[in-house]
Formats: sequence, structure tokens, C-alpha cells
Amino acid sequence: MNFGDFKTVVKIKSVAIVLGIFLLIGIIHGIIADSFNVFVSWLLIGIWLIYSFKVLKNIKQYREFNSPHNTAFFSIGPVFVGIFYSIWGNFTGLLGENLLEGSNLYLSWWSILFGFPYLAYGSYSLYRCFKKYNVIYFGTKAINARTIGYILALVVIFYIIFYWIIFYAVIDFYDSIIIPVHFYVDLNLLLLLISTILIFIVSGLFGTQRRLPTLTRDYITRRTNRLNHLTSPQRTSSPRRQNVSTSRTTRSSRITPISQRRSTQTRTKTTSRTVSRKTTAKPTIIPQRSISSRDFSKYKPKAGLLSVEDFKCIFCFKLPKLPEDNGRGIILCPKCRYPAHADEFKDWMQSSNLCSRCNAIIPSSYRRNPKIISVKNYSIIYRNFLKKNK
Ligand SMILES: [Zn+2]
Ligand SMILES: [Zn+2]
Repeated sequence: MNFGDFKTVVKIKSVAIVLGIFLLIGIIHGIIADSFNVFVSWLLIGIWLIYSFKVLKNIKQYREFNSPHNTAFFSIGPVFVGIFYSIWGNFTGLLGENLLEGSNLYLSWWSILFGFPYLAYGSYSLYRCFKKYNVIYFGTKAINARTIGYILALVVIFYIIFYWIIFYAVIDFYDSIIIPVHFYVDLNLLLLLISTILIFIVSGLFGTQRRLPTLTRDYITRRTNRLNHLTSPQRTSSPRRQNVSTSRTTRSSRITPISQRRSTQTRTKTTSRTVSRKTTAKPTIIPQRSISSRDFSKYKPKAGLLSVEDFKCIFCFKLPKLPEDNGRGIILCPKCRYPAHADEFKDWMQSSNLCSRCNAIIPSSYRRNPKIISVKNYSIIYRNFLKKNK
């Protein structure tokens, strides 16, 4: 059993323990109070704690990598958790006392504690779909953030209205084993409905459209394909490699990589400026042949002891590899040399000019013309480093 398996087992075990504890409390309290609602409420608290723990853990991990929260997990999950726990306010046997007694509205400690935080976060996520992000990631699949925003807003609006129709108009509902405790209008849901409609209209319909990244995945596909096609046959023969390595030297003196440029700061500013202009003239491509072990240090992330974690994309935390990343390229931060999928890097550059990992300013020439490494080459590079470590 390796460490990864071990971690999974621990995770499953702790989830089972938490659920078991709340199940037990629920059964005992449910029997004492003679209420099925009390039993379910305890169980829901257990599930809420597990979910919240997972959210906090993800936030911590994303903070560590300084990554934007534009994933389905952060954009879509919270609002529905918030809605569900707000709805349960009509059923809960715990903390359910109405704090707005005397009005038709309902607010209890249950809805404040378990519903409101996720509804607030969900509304903020919706706002970010329209205003901040270009895309939302579903796993590795990127979907236009505005599209997600429209769908999410409409689903939330219809969901709340649909729920109210069911709750107040459909009689059959009351034959179910879970019986509502009261029929007040939930303040949480009312606020969410209003804020969702406002965000939908103000940011969604009348807000400014964001520019889309210029470096498309198609473009990267074409480039990496061409690259692999051009270079793979030359790898095997050694006399040629000699030849190639000299041509590489001339090449690298012509097109100085940024990392190298930084280290040779004794040069005058004017030369380095001309060099950088030359660099931007043509996209810098690293062909297969140019990777000899001597060169590997140029791609080494700046970390004391390298582990496989250091070669994972700083945005999606996945190790670049084939065939999963077919057609994608890798871009390294010129400063910390941590890798990112090229499409994700480009997307991030739309909203920031800082490296998401080390906060260094990415030069605008590099942003326009980042050096793209094929996933094939990058996996050769990191395998080499990881082998050395053993
Ligand atoms: Zn990635
Ligand atoms: Zn960096």
C-alpha cells in the first residue's frame, strides 16, 4: 500500500467516524424527542461538517498555490448546499426557533449557521462568473464563465420558485414521512432570489463582456503537433546530436531564455533589450532535440528538495502527462519555474500579471509570447529530476 492509498483510507475512515457519531446522536435524540426530523437534522449537521471541512481544505490548497477559485467545486457546489440547508429550516427539529416571530418571514440559528454562509459564498461565486473569470473548470474541461453564470442564475431562480410552489401548493407533499415544522417564508431563500436576479440583470445582462484569451487550445495543439513531428526522428543518432547541440548553442545565444537573461545581469541594459525584442519576434519553441540533461536545470522548479508535487500544474494541481493532456502545452514561470498548463496560464494572465505561485511579475513580452514546452518533453524533464532524487 503506498502513501496515496493510505491517505484515502484515512479520509474514508474519518468521514465514516464523523457520520457514525452524528448518526448515533441522531438516533438517540430522535427516539427521546420522538421525531424523525430531529434524527435527520443531526445527520445533516454531520454531512455539513464534512463538506465544510473539504471546502476549507480546498481553499487552503488553492491559497498555497495562489490559484483562482474558478472551478465547479467553488462556483456551483456552495449555493446548492446553502439552498438545501435553508430549506431544511422548514423541517429542522434543532435550532429551528424563528427569530423573526411575529412576521411572515423565517430566520433561525439553523438557517444562519448552516444555510447563510454558503448562500453568501454562492452569490459571490455567481458574481465572479460574470465579472472575474473567463472560464470555469469542470475537471480539466474549461467552460465559458458567463455561460455558467447564466445557467447557474436561472437554475437557482427556478429552483427556489419551484420549491415554493411544491411547498405551498402541492397537497400530496404533506403525506411524506418528513413533516414541515412551520410554513413561514425563508428569509435566506428570499434574499438569495433577490440577489440572484440582481446579479443576473446587472452583471450578467448589462455588465461588460470580458475579452477571451488569444492563445487558444487549437493554437497550442497545432504548435505542439508541429514540434513533435519536426523533432522526434533526430533523437536517436548520437553524431547528429553533437551537431544539433552546437546549433542549439547558437540558437540559445540568439534567443536567450528569460531565466538566463536574469542570471546574466552584468550585461548592459541595451543589449538585453535588443535580445528581448528578438525573442518576441518569433514564438520560442523548445524542440525535442534541445533537451539534453545539461539543459535540464533550466526547467528545474526552484525548490529545495524536488518531489512530484513540484511538477504539478499550479492551477489544476495535475501532473502533466500524456495522453490526458494531449494537445496542451506547458508554460513555466520565468522566475520560479513552476509549470502551468498553457491554456490555464493564459487565462490567468487575463486577470493578473503576477505568477500565481511566486507572485513575481511576468514580463509583458513573456506574456505575449510565452515559451511553450510540449507535455511530452515536460514529462521527460520531470521524470529525469524525479529519477535523480531516488
Ligand atoms: Zn493545469
Ligand atoms: Zn512563479
